[in-house]
Amino acid sequence: MQGLLIEPGHLPPECEALRAEVRAFLAEALVDVPPARRNRNWSGASPDFSRQMAARGWIGMTWPRRYGGHERSMLERYVVLEEMLAAGAPVGAHWVADRQSGPLLMRFSPDTLAPRIVPRIVRGEAFFCIGMSEPDSGSDLASIRSRAERRTDQRGEGWVINGRKLWTSGAHRAHYMIVLVRTGERSANRHAGLSQFLVDMTTPGLTVRPVINQLGEHDFNEVTFDDVWVPDDHLIGTEGQGWQQVGAELAFERSGPERYLSCTQLLLEMLDAADADDPRQAEALGRVVAHYGTLRQMSLGVAGMLARGENPAQPAALVKDQGALVEQAMPEIAHALFGGRVRPGTTLEQAMRYATLAVPSFSLRGGTREILRGIIAKGLDLR
Ligand SMILES: Cc1cc2nc3c(=O)[nH]c(=O)nc-3n(C[C@H](O)[C@H](O)[C@H](O)COP(=O)(O)OP(=O)(O)OC[C@H]3O[C@@H](n4cnc5c(N)ncnc54)[C@H](O)[C@@H]3O)c2cc1C
Repeated sequence: MQGLLIEPGHLPPECEALRAEVRAFLAEALVDVPPARRNRNWSGASPDFSRQMAARGWIGMTWPRRYGGHERSMLERYVVLEEMLAAGAPVGAHWVADRQSGPLLMRFSPDTLAPRIVPRIVRGEAFFCIGMSEPDSGSDLASIRSRAERRTDQRGEGWVINGRKLWTSGAHRAHYMIVLVRTGERSANRHAGLSQFLVDMTTPGLTVRPVINQLGEHDFNEVTFDDVWVPDDHLIGTEGQGWQQVGAELAFERSGPERYLSCTQLLLEMLDAADADDPRQAEALGRVVAHYGTLRQMSLGVAGMLARGENPAQPAALVKDQGALVEQAMPEIAHALFGGRVRPGTTLEQAMRYATLAVPSFSLRGGTREILRGIIAKGLDLR
């Protein structure tokens, strides 16, 4: 259990050397990025910043050289991720591809799609979005209605996709979507007959429309498919196995440190504003920092499981649920400690305002609290 044996707070020396390198890079690369923009954390996206990270070998860090990866350890990758999140770096453009799309393609299409697409992810040239949720299907993903049907015409053997996806984060800047659709008829086994495809976002018939979130920002979208044709070799893995494949993808999606490090700017602002002689502030902020420390150990454990090829579905659900709880409490803690005194327009006030509007989504995106707790209960044989 490599991940679980790490001394709390300490990582091996090569990781700390890398941490220093990442911090030096961030100090220069983010010098002109104001705190207000850092609040966006991994929702912030800059293709140029992603390419700078790629140039340093910080995308696809653990992946095999065969796909352009850098074959570094999962702990080294973890250090880069936590430093990026702590700094509020605009990592959103490549995040999904690095976290789950690349691993999915390498696992289920290792000789067909992965050799073509994954090296471009590593170079920061291919960004991805996730096409799972639909207007009437979020938690109950098996009920999706989007369909792909086989069609052979002058373009060759392929599939035609029709349907609608919703809440698709980053679709407006992605080069590809990995879409989950129905390819078989509904049957008693609700999980049968689903498949995943790689879709080029420039394909005719595919339309991306913005959905503005409650922060007033354009982050997610509605994506419609009207007779969108994809070649046969864009089927990922095996036809009809989409449900099992999505399960593997969700384990990647739920397992990272972003599940408890999305509000780092608010914590840093609170620590800056705190009075060391105020016991109430010391207690409340000490508690948050202690929670962060515990979540970090648990999250490292999950990263270790992934590195060993184990399925971390239940522990990842636990870390994501607990991470969301801690971060969702932070705006309230900030208001209780500083609310009456904070001046409008200060970086603390901006961070409080941003987090207040952002945190409700933390227990929705990537799986709702109730769904995660169902997974945990199942893992404990309680249901
Ligand atoms: C910021 C953000 C980004 C997102 N990005 C993406 C993306 O990139 N791609 C993508 O595909 N999706 C994305 N989503 C969608 C997200 O995955 C869904 O919102 C989520 O799965 C919930 O689905 P729903 O909104 O349809 O809610 P519903 O499934 O309708 O749930 C509504 C409520 O009912 C509860 N509920 C539902 N079923 C059960 C049950 N069986 N037992 C107990 N309670 C239940 C839920 O917990 C929830 O509280 C994003 C969402 C957010 C908020």
